[in-house]
Amino acid sequence: MTTVTGRCLCGAVKFEIRSPLSEPHACHCTECRRQSGHAVVAASARWSDFVLTEPRGLKWYESSARARRGFCVECGSALLWDDRSDRINVTLGCLDAPTGVTVAGHIFVDEKGDYYTINDGLPQFAGFDQPLTPE
Ligand SMILES: [Zn+2]
Ligand SMILES: [Zn+2]
Repeated sequence: MTTVTGRCLCGAVKFEIRSPLSEPHACHCTECRRQSGHAVVAASARWSDFVLTEPRGLKWYESSARARRGFCVECGSALLWDDRSDRINVTLGCLDAPTGVTVAGHIFVDEKGDYYTINDGLPQFAGFDQPLTPE
């Protein structure tokens, strides 16, 4: 069984993902950048394969009509993005290695900041054309 573990900076939120993650994408949308400080690389797993092993610090923020964001109230780590589908998106910066995945592309490039250039050669999409949540 593939199990990937992750946690916030202080350890008040810890989780396990008991299935392979989807292909990760870097999201450059305004919400991700404001919440995290920059673009967010995230991948998804089925909710049924996601286990919160330490929920103490987890708080949800209703960031838009379609989704909420999970973060740690103790240290501020941006951890989860939930669009209320059967999949949960996790930020890859909070995972322990090995994650088993590699960034596949960039989404919401139309909202990216003016302070950096994306030049890694990976596919770039305006908006949600390459959704974090497949199917
Ligand atoms: Zn924390
Ligand atoms: Zn985003």
